[in-house]
Amino acid sequence: MKILSITLCLFICRTALAQDADSVMIAKIHEEILLHGACYEDLRHLCKDIGQRLAGSDNAAKAIEWGKATLSAIQPDSVYLMPVEVPHWTRGKNESGTYILHGADGQPQQLQVALTALGGSVGTQGVITAEIVEVKSFDELKALGEENVKGKIVFFNKAMDAALINTGAAYGGAYPIRGQGPSEAAKYGAVACLIRSLTLADDNYPHTGATRYEEGVHKIPAAALSAVASRQLSKDLKSNPGLKFSLQLSCEAFPRTMQANVIAELRGKDFPDEYITIGGHLDSWDIGEGAHDDGAGIVQSIEVLRALRALGYQPRHTIRIVLFINEEFGNDGGTTYAQRAREKDEIHVAALESDAGGFSPNGFDCDISDDQYEILSSWAPLFDDYNLFRFRRGGSGVDIRPLKGGRVALFGLLVDGQRYFDYHHSNNDVFENVNRRELELGAAAMASLVFMIDQTGIPMKK
Ligand SMILES: [Zn+2]
Repeated sequence: MKILSITLCLFICRTALAQDADSVMIAKIHEEILLHGACYEDLRHLCKDIGQRLAGSDNAAKAIEWGKATLSAIQPDSVYLMPVEVPHWTRGKNESGTYILHGADGQPQQLQVALTALGGSVGTQGVITAEIVEVKSFDELKALGEENVKGKIVFFNKAMDAALINTGAAYGGAYPIRGQGPSEAAKYGAVACLIRSLTLADDNYPHTGATRYEEGVHKIPAAALSAVASRQLSKDLKSNPGLKFSLQLSCEAFPRTMQANVIAELRGKDFPDEYITIGGHLDSWDIGEGAHDDGAGIVQSIEVLRALRALGYQPRHTIRIVLFINEEFGNDGGTTYAQRAREKDEIHVAALESDAGGFSPNGFDCDISDDQYEILSSWAPLFDDYNLFRFRRGGSGVDIRPLKGGRVALFGLLVDGQRYFDYHHSNNDVFENVNRRELELGAAAMASLVFMIDQTGIPMKK
């Protein structure tokens, strides 16, 4: 016990000399990335030349090839693919929602609604036309019961909570509607399900995202309406309560297929069998360009490798860059990676993910032990000059979470996320909405944390 605490103390009270050297290296990392960064141009290529890349699609296969070539060009010790089984679903060509509104003059008017199918939705097999029943929660749906819902389209009009400063928490609060809403509605005999998009923006972009049908429950088509369309429909339902909504979706599911995580390694000189993993997810939704989600995390992870190589850094532990496939639609890349790690008894010291958008970084989410947190806190003065001051305990990233357990310290890049859900999973998530400097600062923050972990091994009591 005493020996352990002395060891810990040594890690925490690094000598003034070591702290100076750390501070010089962190400055060099920032200089390298801010003056010579390649991540913004990488993001341009990923978004503009490849574009949206839903797992299972041809574009995702192109992104895997691009990732392998881009990592290889940096000349790490190795680059390889790890096969991963992923779903294959397509949205199809037809995607429309319309309804007829009778104005004060009694004249019918057809309105087109901005909507997008939820990921994994079944198609409508033609057009479904039915009355709408609007609810805000599962409790309201339950209270209405089958007699008021059967044969109708359920419209969950629930907004994310704008009062929450943590936008991720606001998203989490509304997420069950998207994930479980269609199956809940189907239990009462609904023929389709509409939801208000999970966004904090008040605009006409619908936002997609995975829905999950419950085993044994009839699968009904599901789509998200833009915030503006949701408000309009809600208003029109008050003046035209019996209005009929027509929905057409031509989504299709195909057999699961093989794609891959892309992995690059810089071999550690002191602990080659101990790994520090850095990554993001290469797949995106099939609308927009997946610029913030998660093109940013991909190019930042690649940038960490590029910058460390450019600075001639020889890591003590093996540094692994992982471009995970299929976070969005089942987390297959992350799950497979953790399974392989367990099969090989690999020791993961730490893992760091960037999947909160390419915005100004301000710290790290930390899923770590108390003693690891003590070590991390001792680094605060080194990070403070770079506006990295938040070390928030609890979360990390979806792709790396399956590694949880044992010694591994999990981290997520924390950013100013106020605008993230304006873009997330929509046609508005494009390259133009990512700021070069903010993206690069995120990469520099990641490389700085990786450097500090590599130097110390961020141990925990055993
Ligand atoms: Zn993401």
